[in-house]
Amino acid sequence: MSGINPKVCETTDSRLLGKLTSEAEFSCARCGARAHDSVSVCEPVPLEPDH
Ligand SMILES: [Zn+2]
Repeated sequence: MSGINPKVCETTDSRLLGKLTSEAEFSCARCGARAHDSVSVCEPVPLEPDH
């Protein structure tokens, strides 16, 4: 299943992964994947910004 918001957790498309994970702001609590948008992971948790 590929929808408008493909999940980083589910895709194996490296080009798409690179796009979704650049400047990640969320990580997935279930599988640890990281994504720029919360909709791109199955269990989004905001990443703490590194200062
Ligand atoms: Zn996940």
